[in-house]
Amino acid sequence: MSAELTPEQLAELREALQRRFDELWAEIREEAAARREETFSRLASEAPDIEDQSVADQLVDLELTTIDRQVEEVREIQAAWFRMKEGIYGECIDCHAPIGYERLKAFPTAQRCLTCQDIYEKTHAEPPHPSL
Ligand SMILES: [Zn+2]
Repeated sequence: MSAELTPEQLAELREALQRRFDELWAEIREEAAARREETFSRLASEAPDIEDQSVADQLVDLELTTIDRQVEEVREIQAAWFRMKEGIYGECIDCHAPIGYERLKAFPTAQRCLTCQDIYEKTHAEPPHPSL
């Protein structure tokens, strides 16, 4: 269950996710307008449903590297959204401890508690690019 989170806190975080989702689509739409890319424009012409997981995949298929960050975030938001639906939102995916409301408020898409995030970042850090 969503340990430690009250229904009010959950509702607030749920709203934050939806808001960020809409914001991202606004950004993606701007990008589409700037590019005048037909497929892309059509795809991004209206905000999709937060539960439509195919949209991020479709954007990735277009290989538009400039929106990689947004697409990545759309995925994270959708993942958080579905964790919420399953009632496991707010629980660390590694140690299953509650992530905590304060951290979720700052990062509604957080999947790990601070301790596990720290470990994760240390073990999955990108190797520094060699400078020749
Ligand atoms: Zn943890």
